[in-house]
Order: sequence, then structure tokens, then C-alpha cells
Amino acid sequence: MSWNAEIPWDPDEFEPPEDFDAPPPPEGYGDPAFAGAPGLPAGARQPVAAPRRATAKFATAADALRTVFGYDSFRGEQAQIIDQVIGGGDAVVLMPTGGGKSLCYQIPSLVREGTGIVISPLIALMQDQVDALTAVGVRAAFLNSSQDSAARGRVERDYLAGDLDLLYVAPERLSSEATKRFLDRGTIALFAIDEAHCVSQWGHDFRPDYLALSELADRWPDVPRIALTATATDATHKEITTRLQLGEARHFVASFDRPNIQYRIVGKAEPRKQLLAFIRAEHQADAGIVYALSRKTVEQTAEFLRQNGVNALPYHAGLDQGLRARTQSRFLREEGVVIVATIAFGMGIDKPDVRFVAHIDLPKSVEGYYQETGRAGRDGLPSTGWLTYGLQDVVQQRRMIDESPGDLAHRRKLSAHLDAMLALCETVSCRRVNLLRYFGQPSEPCGNCDTCLEPPVGWDGTVAAQKLLSTVVRLLRERSQRFGAGQLIDILRGKVTPRTTQHGHDQLATWGIGADLSDQQWRGVVRQLLAQGLLATSGEYGTLVLTDAAAEVLAGRRTVELRTEPERAARPAAGARKSAAKAAAADLNPEQETLFEALRTWRSAQSKEQGVPAYIIFGDATLLAIAATRPGSLAELDGISGVGAKKLDSYGAAILEVVAAGA
Ligand code: ADP
Ligand code: ZN
Repeated sequence: MSWNAEIPWDPDEFEPPEDFDAPPPPEGYGDPAFAGAPGLPAGARQPVAAPRRATAKFATAADALRTVFGYDSFRGEQAQIIDQVIGGGDAVVLMPTGGGKSLCYQIPSLVREGTGIVISPLIALMQDQVDALTAVGVRAAFLNSSQDSAARGRVERDYLAGDLDLLYVAPERLSSEATKRFLDRGTIALFAIDEAHCVSQWGHDFRPDYLALSELADRWPDVPRIALTATATDATHKEITTRLQLGEARHFVASFDRPNIQYRIVGKAEPRKQLLAFIRAEHQADAGIVYALSRKTVEQTAEFLRQNGVNALPYHAGLDQGLRARTQSRFLREEGVVIVATIAFGMGIDKPDVRFVAHIDLPKSVEGYYQETGRAGRDGLPSTGWLTYGLQDVVQQRRMIDESPGDLAHRRKLSAHLDAMLALCETVSCRRVNLLRYFGQPSEPCGNCDTCLEPPVGWDGTVAAQKLLSTVVRLLRERSQRFGAGQLIDILRGKVTPRTTQHGHDQLATWGIGADLSDQQWRGVVRQLLAQGLLATSGEYGTLVLTDAAAEVLAGRRTVELRTEPERAARPAAGARKSAAKAAAADLNPEQETLFEALRTWRSAQSKEQGVPAYIIFGDATLLAIAATRPGSLAELDGISGVGAKKLDSYGAAILEVVAAGA
């Protein structure tokens, strides 16, 4: 394909934040006396009634951790964060996805008097969050527009009676005076502001309603507030602190490393085929997310994967809301679903067993890339962050920046974001070191990224760069012409085409002087020169022009270091695994593996029967531990991480049966 061709681009790309809650109903709406309330939408489930506990509250955090969640010890700074909030202090928590943020507000809500109010931007996920808590015996509920008046009334009564440990609400609901007055009538244990980076006006998840949350400090000065996010940049951290009036808070910044995610970035040749090969080789039947930039690419890619036997579904903001909700629900409930999506999908998705996140277009920033890849492997089991990118990505994104509305300062910012992303893609050193350095955290080479597993070889590309740059110069000086990469490469390789003949390009002094490199290698050269700022694109067709720095190279005053382009971009990395499920089970002997599969089958049946996602029954990590230790009694089962009192009660006997049958 010619690089001069119109680059497929969806101008309607901006994905508005979705899933807004409807405005709160008038006061009295929840009362049974309030008539005319709409019924529950089709397919919505009645919330499961929370079981009553004899003692509503726990004496200590450690007690709640063990009894409710079945875990032995806190992770990282969880204990300190929880102490801070239990003691009535505010906290700002920056922790990567999968780090364990939820316990930081759930446990204080189980220890402090009253109900923890959780502000969460995604109402579509509240049901699952509540189901997960109910499954471990926590009294949780939500208030949002998906409820009918009866359900709402029950939640309100439970709150007022002090029978709720946690109550989820959307930010827009909290800005209504009626909601605030209602909350005042009960006891508030704490406010947890989840996805707190939504308050950042310049981040891509900005929600105007988050700005109003600064009022919480004025209205309830004695209620502790904890703001949590997985966004790691200093700028966002500062914005959260000032906008949410968290000046007095203690700050907790965790390491942002996600050691179980293997980062890989490969050259783009035929992205769909590469993606399919990657899924088939390493993630057959695994759940995953594929991100693409445009809606059209999303739909075409999902279709292509389906035709090739992958259970893939498209998701973008242009699809009907009901369909989006069903797609999300299938992703959470069924095993092995692959979602192909724009960035409209994924925030707040708690599914712990997403085994891969693939990007088939270049993300616009390192923050975005980190957030999106972070959705893989929350359960700590091996997962892959896979990205394919090529010359066209660079051309397209530079063009988008040039054409973006907004002032020069804004375009500079976008440009800086892109440069950092390109530097990550082109690095010859460890991806993880590069990524963590971006977030201000120094680290050592990780051994679990493509550059560590298969170190790329650098080569002196000065002469190649000079050949290419001088072709650009000659075309402009001798012919007053500008071309895109395709034509330039044809000239360098001396390829006779209607276009080279028509323009008489075989008469140029640089005709055929680059025959030593393949088409693919030249594309790599162009891409890297763009990434290094030696070439720039201009105009709507992305024609190539020189930058000031290019003069240095042409004059022989600057050398150019390039990365080798693997000929077969789809080649799996040295450490590539056959299947993540198998890898997860790799430490098990064949008998244990059979038991693991039997436990998964049992879980799958349970999940269908109850209509809840499988991970709400038990996570893979817990099933692996059960398969490895083969508990013979309830007491032995109780010792396994992830088995709390409620689950022991609900499933203990059934699990022991599965184990016994496998013995
Ligand atoms: P985050 O909200 O930061 O992305 P979660 O709160 O969803 O992360 O936690 C990620 C996973 O780690 C969950 O499956 C959770 O149950 C588990 N987890 C959290 N804290 C602990 C702990 N102290 N011990 C064992 N597992 C934990
Ligand atoms: Zn590495």
C-alpha cells in the first residue's frame, strides 16, 4: 500500500465518557408511597439480599482481612493506608491496577462506625462490585438510575438503619442536594473517591462531576476521605490533591511495576494477522482486550477474529448503549471473550483474569498505554501487554496533532506525549525500565520484556539516513515535489512502477542507491527517523519533510543509531508461552492440573447458576492453590488465600467433594 494513500481515520474519534448516571430523582422517590417509578430494565437483576452478620463491625483490620477476604497479610502499604483512614485521616493512594486498592477503603468501612460511601464513575460496574462484596458476606449496595423505586427504597432504608457497610454512588448523584441531605440522615464511615484521576481536567478520563467532590471536605469535615487512582504521574497526583482539597492527607505512592505483565512491542506488517498469530500461539481461549484507535478498525478487527475462530466482540462509544452493556457483561461472565475496543472500554473493569491486552494502533501517550496494559493480570498471574506499531502510526498521529483544535501549548503537550511513547517503542533497553522511569521510578532490567528476552541489535544507520534525507532534498530542490514514504522507498530501491516512471524519478541521483535494504527495513528507517525527529510529516497526505536536525546528519556532523527490524515481525519472542492457562498451571504436576481443570468446570457451573462472573466465586489463584494443596478438610481449606468465612460456608463442602473425586 502506498503511504501517500489517504490514511483511514475516523474524525469522529473522540469518545465521550459514557455510563453517566441519570440525574437523581426528586426527594421521596425512594419511598414506597412515591408512585409512577419506572420498572427495572429488562435483564436487570434484583440485587442479592445481603446476609446479616451477628456483629456488624470488626475490631481490627487484620480481623476483617482474614475473616472476610481470607487473606493472611496485607500487601505493600495497605496496612498503613487502612490505619490512616480508620484513624479518621485522609489519604491519597496511587497504586497500579491490581495492587489492591479496594481493600484500602473496604476494610476501614468494615471497622469504622457507619457506611463507607464509594464514589465510582461507572454505574454499569456497580452491580458486579456489590455482588463480589455480597459473596464474601459484606453488606453492600448501590444507588443509581438502573434501580426501580422499590429496590431504591430498600437500599435507602438499609442505609438509614445502619445496615450497610458500603454504598456505591456515582459522582453526579452526589452533587445533588437531595442526596447529600439523605446521606446526612445516616452515619458516614468514610468517603472513598475511586478513579480519582477523573478530577484531572487534562487527563483523558475527565468527568466534570468530580470537580464538585471538593465540597465533601466542607460539608463533612470530620469524615475521612480516601482518593485512589492507578494513574502515576506527578501532575495528576498534584491535581487530585488540590482539586479534592486533600491538603492534609497522607500520600501513599506504590511501586508501579507490574512484574507479571510481559511487555512486547513488535513492528507492524499485517496487524490483524499478527494479532491472530499472537492470540493463537499464546492466548488461545484466554480473555483479552484489543485496543484500536478508530471505530472502523474495531469493527473490522472483531469481525476478522470471529471469522478465525476467536470469540471476539466489538465495543466503542458509537454502539447502542444496551449492546455495550451486554458486551461488557459477556466479557465479565463468560470465559475467553476477547473485546476489540476503542479506549471507551475498560476503566474500572475489575475482571482479574484478563490474560492479554493488545494494541494494534499506537497509544497516544505512555500514561494511556500503561493504564490500558494494566488491565491485564490483576490476579498476579502471567499476562502479556502486546503492541504492534509501524510507520503509519507515526504519520497518522503526527497529523492528528497538527490538525487538533486547541492552541500551540496544547499541541506541544500532545507532541511530548507522543515522543515519550515513541521513545518507549524504539528503545534498545528494557521496556519496563523505560516505562517506570517515565513515572519517576528507577529500576533494573526486568528479564520479562521483549528487549530483555531478545535484545535488539543496534546498527549505524547514518549512511542509510543520508540516502533517504538526500532523496527528500533532491525531490524538493530539483522537482519541487514532496512525497510520502512509499515513493521515497521505491526511488531508493530503484523500483520501476507507473508512479516512478511517470515522474521520471529514475533520473534522480539517488535512484537505486538503497537496494541493499528491503522494503520493510526502509520503512523501519523512515519510522525511526520520524521518531528521532530527523524527518517530519506535513500536509494531509503525510508527505515527508526534513527537520533542522536533519541538516546535521546530511553534513556528516551527526551519526544515527538505529534498531534492527526483525524480518518476520510476527515471530514470537524467545520467552513466549504456549498458553497462559497452561503457564498458570505450569507449576502443577499433571494430576494437580487435572484437578485445577475440574475446579474450573465446577466454578463455571456455579457462575452460570448464580449469574455472576466466575471470579466472584473464586479467583484462578485460589483454585490453583487448592489444586496444589488438595485440602482434605474445611480447616485445611480455610487456610488457603482467598477463602474467607462466607465462601467456606457457601462452597467448602462442594470444593472438598471436587477434590475428593479427583483423588
Ligand atoms: P486494584 O483496585 O488496585 O486494581 P484490587 O483491589 O482489585 O486492585 O485487587 C487486585 C487483586 O488482589 C484482587 O483479586 C484482590 O482480591 C487481591 N488482593 C488485594 N489485597 C490482597 C492481599 N492483601 N492479599 C491477597 N490478595 C489481595
Ligand atoms: Zn525488561
